Amino acid sequence: MSASLTPGPSPAMRERGDVTPLLALEKLCVAYGGIQAVKGIDLTVGRGELVCLIGANGAGKTTTLKGITGLQPVRSGRVVYDGEDITGQPSFRLVQRGLAMVPEGRGVFGGLTIEENLAMGAYTRRDRQGVAADVERVFELFPRLKERRRQTAGTLSGGEQQMLAMGRSLMSKPRLLLLDEPSMGLAPLMVQKVFETVLRVSAEGVTILLIEQNAKLALEVSHRGYVMESGEITLAGDSKQLLGDPAVRAAYLGASA
Ligand code: ATP
Repeated sequence: MSASLTPGPSPAMRERGDVTPLLALEKLCVAYGGIQAVKGIDLTVGRGELVCLIGANGAGKTTTLKGITGLQPVRSGRVVYDGEDITGQPSFRLVQRGLAMVPEGRGVFGGLTIEENLAMGAYTRRDRQGVAADVERVFELFPRLKERRRQTAGTLSGGEQQMLAMGRSLMSKPRLLLLDEPSMGLAPLMVQKVFETVLRVSAEGVTILLIEQNAKLALEVSHRGYVMESGEITLAGDSKQLLGDPAVRAAYLGASA
């Protein structure tokens, strides 16, 4: 993998002493009826950190995000954002507070143009000049979107739609970005581009929780990682260490231990 896919200095190194996480999950349990999908997990994301949550199909990664954003009720435990308990708060409130999610499958509005999709991302904002400036910022991050600004989103490639979904979420000026499997269904070259963008957004100071099945790439770009299995966190630590961990290598990186 190219050297460009390396995270910036970890915030723990940048701002020694600030240990209050921006996001903390405390003993979080999320269930679908009788099915316990998330079984009491603890997870933190520090300010400015890029943290990944990896695991196989059905491990409970997406459900964890749904618990954070109130899309699926939390059975027990807490979601603490910026020091405040936000457990069960509706998504629109969270967007106003700087928490944005790019869902799996992307969810762009196919019948709307790129520009219109970006405008939708800024629906909570009233500062029109700021919004216009941020559209240009998104176009700087994603020049492909600028070229196609009047094209409808439904006609974009999968990778371009992923970029648009990320750009749209940036329009709400998030402090914390939750990314659900941005590499899903993309060709390798596109995956590389999307991850480069994740790093650029991180370098701009946005805190990121990245959910990924592509464990190798996710660990390469992140500062810290959590491994999830059957609704539980089984391993956690520095991403570089996890990349070298024999158990992680055997289970998720296709390498023998
Ligand atoms: P993937 O990478 O395949 O998206 P994941 O780690 O995100 O997997 P989840 O989608 O969170 O996993 O699913 C965790 C468990 O919860 C799985 O056993 C799944 O079958 C179950 N589950 C997910 N959504 C529902 C639902 N709406 N109703 C019932 N069970 C569900």
